[in-house]
Amino acid sequence: MKIRDIIDSKPVTISCELFPPKKDSDFAGVQQAAEKISALHPDFISITYGAGGGTSKNTVKIASMVQDDYGVTSIAHLTCFSSTPEEVDRVIDDIKAHNIENILALRGDPPRDATTPPPGYYSHASELIHQIRAKGDFCIGGACYPEGHVDCANRDLDLDYLKMKVDAGCDFLTTQMFFDNNIMYRFLYRALAKGIDVPIMAGIMPVINGKQIKRSVQLSGTELPNRFVGIIDKFGSDPLAMKQAGVAYATEQIIDLIANGVRGIHLYTMNRADIAAEIFHNLSHILGKEDA
Ligand code: FAD
Repeated sequence: MKIRDIIDSKPVTISCELFPPKKDSDFAGVQQAAEKISALHPDFISITYGAGGGTSKNTVKIASMVQDDYGVTSIAHLTCFSSTPEEVDRVIDDIKAHNIENILALRGDPPRDATTPPPGYYSHASELIHQIRAKGDFCIGGACYPEGHVDCANRDLDLDYLKMKVDAGCDFLTTQMFFDNNIMYRFLYRALAKGIDVPIMAGIMPVINGKQIKRSVQLSGTELPNRFVGIIDKFGSDPLAMKQAGVAYATEQIIDLIANGVRGIHLYTMNRADIAAEIFHNLSHILGKEDA
C-alpha cells in the first residue's frame, strides 16, 4: 500500500524504523526485531540504507520481509550521494521487483573526505526524486530538518530547497529527531508559509543512551532542551532508569504533538522492539491500537 494513502485514511499514522545488520551474522537479530515490531501493528516500517555505519545490501530484503512475511507496509530508504545514477537505477528496479511501493529518497551523508560528489553523481535528494518519479508510480518520502540541515547555514534557504524537493515529487516528509515540540510547531508554520503542504511525519527518538545522544545531537545540530539535559544528567549512567525516562519523555512528546493536531509520528526505534512496545502500550488508547 502507498504511504500517502495510509496517511490520508487515518487520523494519526505511526511508523517505526529498522536498520539493516552491520554484519551478516547479525541478520537473525534484525529479523527478530522486524517480527516483534511488526506485531505491534505500526502503519508502516521504514528500513534505512547504509546509515550510521550500517550497510545497504539488506535494505530491500528486509523491506520485502516486513511486507510479505509480517504483513506491514514498508518503505525502503535510498541514498544517492555515493552511488552513480546507474547504480541507483538498479536498486529502484530491485525495489519494484519486490513490490515495494514506497521509497524514502535521501542524499545521504557525504564521506568525511568529500563535500561534493564525483562528476556525474547527484548532489541533492531532489535529483534522486526526479529519477524515481521517472521510473514508476512510487510513493516518495523525503527528509526534513525542523532545526535546519547542518550543511545549510540559512534556515530560510533550507526551506526553499525543501520546497524544491517537494515540487520534484515528494508525497510526504519525515523530520529529523527533535526534543522540543515548539521547534516542530514553528517549523510547520514556516513550511506552510513556503507552500509546503505535504504531510509531515514528526521524527521522535526515544533516548536510552545519554552519552550517545549528546554526541549525535552535536553532529546533527539538534537542540536538547534544558529539561531533557537534566534528565540525561540524572539518569544517563543507569541504563534501566534512562530507558524508563527516555520512553516517558518520548511518550509525552507524542501525546502533545497529537493533541496539537500533528497527524504523523515516526519512531526512531533503532531495532529496539522492547522500546517500541512500551511506547505503543503507553499510547494504546490514543492511537486506537490494542496491545499486542
Ligand atoms: P537534501 O535534501 O539533498 O539536502 C541536503 C543539503 O543540501 C541541505 O543542507 C539542503 O539545504 C541542501 N540543498 C538541497 N537542495 C539543494 C540545492 N538544489 N542547491 C543547494 N543546496 C541544496 N542517511 C543515510 O545514509 N541513510 C538513511 O537511511 C537515512 N535515513 C534518514 C531518514 C530521515 C527521516 C532523515 C531526517 C535523515 C536520514 N538520513 C539517512 C540522513 C540524511 O541522508 C542526511 O541528513 C543528509 O545529509 C541529507 O539528506 P537529504 O536527503 O535531506 O538531502
